[in-house]
Amino acid sequence: MNWKTLSHLSTRKIKNIQNKKLRYFIQHKVPFSPYYNDLFKENKIRFSDIKTTDDLRKIPFTTKNDIAPTKNNPKKHANFVLQPNKESIKKYSSKLDLLKYALNKNSAFKEFNPVHLHFTTGRTANAVPFLYTAYDLEKLRESGKRMMNILDINKDNKLINAFPYAPHLAFWATFFAAEASGLFALHTGGGKILGTDKIIKSIQSTKATLLAAIPGFAYHLLREAKNKKADFSSVKKIFFGGERVSKGLREKIRSMLTSLGSKNPEIFATYAFTEGKVAWAECKENSGYHLYPDMEFIEIIDKNGEDVGENEKGEIVYTALDFRGTIVLRYKTGDVGSITYEKCSCGRTLPRLSSEIERSSEIKEFNLTKVKGTLVNLNAFFEILNTKEIEEWQVEIKKKNNDPYELDELIVYISPKKNIDFIKLKSKLKKILYDELEITPQIVKMDLKEILDRLGMETELKEKRIIDNRPKT
Ligand SMILES: [Zn+2]
Repeated sequence: MNWKTLSHLSTRKIKNIQNKKLRYFIQHKVPFSPYYNDLFKENKIRFSDIKTTDDLRKIPFTTKNDIAPTKNNPKKHANFVLQPNKESIKKYSSKLDLLKYALNKNSAFKEFNPVHLHFTTGRTANAVPFLYTAYDLEKLRESGKRMMNILDINKDNKLINAFPYAPHLAFWATFFAAEASGLFALHTGGGKILGTDKIIKSIQSTKATLLAAIPGFAYHLLREAKNKKADFSSVKKIFFGGERVSKGLREKIRSMLTSLGSKNPEIFATYAFTEGKVAWAECKENSGYHLYPDMEFIEIIDKNGEDVGENEKGEIVYTALDFRGTIVLRYKTGDVGSITYEKCSCGRTLPRLSSEIERSSEIKEFNLTKVKGTLVNLNAFFEILNTKEIEEWQVEIKKKNNDPYELDELIVYISPKKNIDFIKLKSKLKKILYDELEITPQIVKMDLKEILDRLGMETELKEKRIIDNRPKT
């Protein structure tokens, strides 16, 4: 079905497509996954038991720990890769697929042979490879075209891809989106590869209309451009990936871009996680991320693993409907958001994830007092510290006196904007941080150059906004 038709179907018809896709996927493809083959057996589930998305609840959740390599099992992730052999292909494939494989020997190879991979970006857990076959790369291209359609970006645009060059989804999703949509693009590799100076020059020389970057780096790039008195009047849209963008940072970026000559720039966020293999976009600011219902099924669950209602907050759980290579079912992302099935103002009827998504990896436990561990939602720092008064910031978590047996300590480094009274700013921040997070961190002033070095803006793939320097126990 073409994208335009799919994106305007009734909720009921979308549900039917998802059920059909799920049945086919579970019966004819999932049995090639050693992990799910075992899981179904252990839980006495037959592949034919899963008829609709409601039946998914029969399948236990998959978590990061099920996939992440351990010392004893460094190749755990390989059990999630679809790997048919002669026997299993005969046993599980549909009649039509068997005919296809018989007619074209290469087709099974193309479908199942991995040709590309991305690593998960987790900083604490070991990185996990997610494999793509040629079949999956076609899906990545298709999702890229859809993303450009949702962002209303046509072929006349010129794109500067400033995502860090790495085996990560943000860079490659942008690469394939541009290629599949026939956009002129320069894939810079970001500050660490081409360098901020050359990226600024190339935006000017190509008269780029579109910039793709991690939010923190985008702001850094614009500030440097401003110092160089660059002309960014050609830039019409920015889209972000890689991490969440707070309202404050959006506004800071908008006003910086306007001061560089851009007229009414539009700023979009995208959402993605490695396990989901593609990225989702908003059609306008805060519209929510438009999903691809023929590629994935999303559930939102509460702490007990039960589904919550539409528009209610909970953990995002992902099920692949049409991928090969590495696949996951009922995967707990650790991200918190909500879903809606209401028609969007753009007219599309696709399910949408809320714009506000919190990554639970940023909720950490601290021993700030001798009494007990406190959970602190570090996501809040992004909202509180991305204000007009602050140029850059970093949060460091460490042990008091660097003694591993001591209490934890939080230090907030601030580089205030010019003409800002730091003493006043400090007492204001102290109050907000106490009111919202019930913590009283040290607040330390630092000059811009030093804080940029600490953030690794030009040297790291992603800036180190929150660093945890506590010894690992
Ligand atoms: Zn929309």
